[in-house]
Amino acid sequence: MLRKRAKFSLFALQFSAFRIVPPAALITIALSKGRIFDEAVPLLAAAGVATSEDPETSRKLILSTNRSDVRVIIVRATDVPTYVQYGAADVGVAGKDVLDEHGGRGLYQPLDLKIARCRMMVAVKEGFDYQQAVRQGARLRVATKYVQTAREHFAGKGMHVDLIRLYGSMELAPLVGLAEAIVDLVSTGHTLKANGLCAVEEIAPVSARLIINQAALKLKRDAVQPLLDAFGRAIA
Ligand code: ADP
Ligand code: MG
Repeated sequence: MLRKRAKFSLFALQFSAFRIVPPAALITIALSKGRIFDEAVPLLAAAGVATSEDPETSRKLILSTNRSDVRVIIVRATDVPTYVQYGAADVGVAGKDVLDEHGGRGLYQPLDLKIARCRMMVAVKEGFDYQQAVRQGARLRVATKYVQTAREHFAGKGMHVDLIRLYGSMELAPLVGLAEAIVDLVSTGHTLKANGLCAVEEIAPVSARLIINQAALKLKRDAVQPLLDAFGRAIA
């Protein structure tokens, strides 16, 4: 009996010496450089997180923060949902445009952060009568990076279009005869104007969303929930 107790207390001592209390789960946040990062900084600050370096000047892709349990990875805007979907990042910030193209599989999207706001629009060359073309049932060529969004939009209008996938500078397409229309993000409209284009139809308002890996939300809830709450309070 006594021996048993001695053994037990030794066991307890070992536990306390090695502190089997699990270390706080490491939270990885995926962000993209530019607008999303810049506008996410105040939200991170509200959650008590500040990166140790600025991604605009640092070449590092993994940024440590003032908190040992939080790190930030810098990825392309379109890759943010992928990193979070596969759990390589627990949390991310991605535009609704990017999420709509990705499809959102494996992602929980609890918060509209209301940052990086703009609009998904159809634009054409100034002087091109888009409404008339729609009325006549013309088969338009539409150049875009946002193929899923465009497909759904024109299908919803009952329009047949030929979608041409581009990866950037969509504004050029109507100017050189690649397409009659483009589907692109517009905020001020300055780029369209500078290229002799005009927006003719709004598809949807766009803003950045907080996304969370569904498994991480369950398995790392204690670490993720406070972050979620702080973001929620910061945008309220
Ligand atoms: P990239 O050009 O590499 O996609 P951006 O910083 O331009 O990176 O865009 C990142 C995100 O910011 C987009 O996915 C979108 O949600 C948002 N965004 C893009 N263009 C605009 C814009 N003109 N105004 C506001 N937000 C925008
Ligand atoms: Mg851009």
